[in-house]
Amino acid sequence: MGYYVKNHNIEYTFDYTLKDDTEGLDNLYWSQFGCKCDKCNVKSGKNYMERLPVYILDDISREERMRFYIDMAYVCKKEADKLPLLSKSSHRVGLGVRVRCTDHKQRFRLIRGLIVRGVSRIHVAEEFVYFDTDTLKPMEFKQTPDNYYGA
Ligand SMILES: [Zn+2]
Repeated sequence: MGYYVKNHNIEYTFDYTLKDDTEGLDNLYWSQFGCKCDKCNVKSGKNYMERLPVYILDDISREERMRFYIDMAYVCKKEADKLPLLSKSSHRVGLGVRVRCTDHKQRFRLIRGLIVRGVSRIHVAEEFVYFDTDTLKPMEFKQTPDNYYGA
C-alpha cells in the first residue's frame, strides 16, 4: 500500500471512496491531482487529469520509493484565469504536473525517472519540478522562477 502523503486531504464519501482514489495507482492518490483553489468542487483529478502524467509519476514513486507533494496539477478554469495561467497551459487540460522538490538528490531521481519514461518537457525551479505530457508542445528543458506558471 502507498505512502502517506501530506497533501492527501480529502473526505471520502459513498460515491468517492479510498478505493476510487487509488484506482490504478500504487503510491499516489487521484485527490493529489485535484484543483487546489478550495472554491471549486474538483477535489480529485480522477475525472480531470489525463492518465499518462499521473501513471508516470506513480511509477517513479514506486520505483524510487519517493513520496511526492503535488503543488499543482489540474487547475479549474476560474482559478486558472485568476493566477493567471496561459490559455494553453497544460494545467488547464490535465497534462501538466508540478511536483514540490527541493532536495538535489531527489530532484535528480525524479528528473531521471521522467526522462527514461519519455517525458520531453521539464521545467525546474528552486522549489519544484514541472513536467507535462502535451505532445503538441516542443521538447524543452529549462529553468524557471518559483512564481512561474507558464508552460
Ligand atoms: Zn478550482
